[in-house]
Amino acid sequence: MFDKVLIANRGEVALRIWRACKSLGLQTVAVYSEADRDLRHVKLADSSICIGPAPASKSYLLQERILLAAQLTGAQAIHPGYGFLSENAHFVKAIEEADLTFIGPSSAAIACMGDKVSAKQAMIAAGVPCVPGSEGAVPESESEILECARKVGYPLIIKAAGGGGGRGMRVVNAESELLGAVTLTREEANAAFGNPVVYMERFLQAPRHVEIQILADQHGNAIWLGERDCSTQRRHQKLIEESPAPGVSRDSIERIGQLCVKACLAIGYVGAGTFEFLYENEAFFFIEMNTRVQVEHPVTEMVTGVDIVAEQLRVAMGLPLSITQDKISLSGHAIECRINAENAWTFSPSAGTVSDWLPPGGPGIRIESHLRPGYRMTSHYDSLIAKVIAHGATRQQAIERMKVALSELIIAGFDSNIPLHQEILKTPQFVQGGANIHYLEHYLSEREGNQMS
Ligand code: ADP
Repeated sequence: MFDKVLIANRGEVALRIWRACKSLGLQTVAVYSEADRDLRHVKLADSSICIGPAPASKSYLLQERILLAAQLTGAQAIHPGYGFLSENAHFVKAIEEADLTFIGPSSAAIACMGDKVSAKQAMIAAGVPCVPGSEGAVPESESEILECARKVGYPLIIKAAGGGGGRGMRVVNAESELLGAVTLTREEANAAFGNPVVYMERFLQAPRHVEIQILADQHGNAIWLGERDCSTQRRHQKLIEESPAPGVSRDSIERIGQLCVKACLAIGYVGAGTFEFLYENEAFFFIEMNTRVQVEHPVTEMVTGVDIVAEQLRVAMGLPLSITQDKISLSGHAIECRINAENAWTFSPSAGTVSDWLPPGGPGIRIESHLRPGYRMTSHYDSLIAKVIAHGATRQQAIERMKVALSELIIAGFDSNIPLHQEILKTPQFVQGGANIHYLEHYLSEREGNQMS
């Protein structure tokens, strides 16, 4: 049990965690960089402590400072949010060794799932379907690499075992490119993630990204909370997410959801987590597990009514999940648009001070944002500034409500991608639903071509 939680994050997710803590009567500690002393959750927290200058490498990523902040303030638990140290097994181990509670799975579970090769092996053992591939690290000798690739088949994708954030991947179309691509990806993986191990997968040509949200407690209970379709991506970064996934049969979702629950129990997973799948020709292929709360968790909250962050806190306190699987059903449809501080068409990051901020309202609309007039947007952190979530009885109603909400939303002082969202919501592919992970990139390059001609 604990009654004081340190929030080891910033921005919208820190505010989200603060809200969940308060709804459970918990005390909160905010840690902040010099650039963030005026953030909303810092002002609202019961206590707050500065942990360093603006760059994350000198503040939010410094494990010892966060542990020290917990000791100084008497916080007994740490919520990592997403990004930063949320999937860092060393950090979680240090928390465990300091007899504090990490609000998330054990360091061992994070280490297993953080390495994509061991994660896939654990999933195969638990009966979860994976993208066919090397089933382990790519071998060392050239002849073995060639042999391994022939079995996988072309096109294939070489991926870093320690990769994340859409980096450390390379598509290989023919054998002549293979050895060079393996060497390059190993070098890049070593430089970016300190781990040169790579593996191979068949490259799926036009899949959708469909993921399953799970929650598990310390008493052997695990549940799945439906799915999210996150196929609207640019450069492997999600832009719009929705639940349920349009046009995917409930039977096949049900089967995969149950397999995820089984896998959680098999690996002794505790907390919130997401199993990410590629979905092609009515088949699911596991690609990775995220061992933390995700940016897109609100769409699941809107269709299930479950407060995922509050459940994370309950489970970490040793309480059982407050809901059982038979109480989970999806009601209506929810869509989330990620509003980034960037030019809607060139995608160049935008900075400045918020001169006006007017969030939308109305039935089914939810806003997650740390913005306020006077907020200074800098280049130090992620460009996500707000999430707009629209819920409706049907997908069409959710889209219409989202359109109205975006037309009301005012963020002045720097550029945002609101116009891009407004355009995407009108494209026939989005309106129809079920487009694959490449459709947005195709749309954008066609759009650019049209404007040049
Ligand atoms: P990361 O951890 O870096 O996000 P993922 O394994 O989740 O890496 O893959 C990110 C994205 O890369 C996927 O959403 C998909 O767009 C693409 N991708 C990954 N593996 C494959 C594959 N085998 N075939 C086709 N696309 C893939």
